[in-house]
Amino acid sequence: MARPQKTTTPARTGTKPQRPAKNSVKTRAPLTGDTKPAIGIIGGSGLYSMAGLEDTREVRVKTPFGEPSDAIVVGTLEGKRVAFLTRHGRGHRILPSEINYRANIYAMKMLGAGRLISASAVGSLQEDLRPMEFLIPDQFFDRTKQRIATFFGQGLVAHVSFEKPTCEDLSMLLAAACEQARVKVHRGGTYVCIEGPQFSTLAEAHVHRQLRFEVIGMTNLTEAKLAREAEMCYATVAMITDYDCWHPEHASVTAAEVMNNLKTNAQSAENVIRTAVRSLPAAHSCKCAVALQHAIVTDRAAIPAAAKRRLAAIVGKYLN
Ligand SMILES: [Zn+2]
Repeated sequence: MARPQKTTTPARTGTKPQRPAKNSVKTRAPLTGDTKPAIGIIGGSGLYSMAGLEDTREVRVKTPFGEPSDAIVVGTLEGKRVAFLTRHGRGHRILPSEINYRANIYAMKMLGAGRLISASAVGSLQEDLRPMEFLIPDQFFDRTKQRIATFFGQGLVAHVSFEKPTCEDLSMLLAAACEQARVKVHRGGTYVCIEGPQFSTLAEAHVHRQLRFEVIGMTNLTEAKLAREAEMCYATVAMITDYDCWHPEHASVTAAEVMNNLKTNAQSAENVIRTAVRSLPAAHSCKCAVALQHAIVTDRAAIPAAAKRRLAAIVGKYLN
């Protein structure tokens, strides 16, 4: 018997109340030099703030694509400058389809982040991927329907390579951090990204399982596409909260149990991210930072000035 949809609802929409960032100060002062965060962290359901983040200040970033989901909290984590953004906004106010993904990624780029660590609650599509375990996806499958998932257009065409949609180096580091933090981790797997906000039907869950997808969520593919276009490393800690709707023996799990999983996972994710940030080397050996090198197709002379201005933070180095 299929588990009623409502028992899984809290797991990937996160109805947990907000935990405001401590000691945060709203400021308009520019971030310069060594105050710039090189690492961006995007927290999903359950992860609305970041433990251990010190000397914080809130930055309201205006981008050519509008405003991000919330103020970005810039601070020091494990001795390194990081920027933290809660994907759904504090208080969890924004649907997956309503998130201004372009503004979120562009704002991180504007602040100086070259790497993005994402933490996201997901459902498991396989028996051996158990709730409270983590998975580092290395592939995505797109089942979204109504999102703008590119920075390009309006006179400027570019096609980035997306064969390997995540940063392998950052993914390996996150997996190692899970092990160090004593969280069971699965290296690699496909994250199927659906539009939501509804969870899958049983028929859809069976199809996703037959296609051998590992986990299901509603946000990360869109972020990964934009991060690649913005030449940022992107990797995800997928926190398994439940077995979607397909598992017969987990049909009777209570909403309270799922909420508890979400809370425990968020705490584990904080440990994993702190460990990862601590061990993240300053130098990149991956190719993420040159993803646009051969991707811009439009004749330079034909690119409208407005497009150059709009995408200056991303394409400026190739057009000047
Ligand atoms: Zn990379």
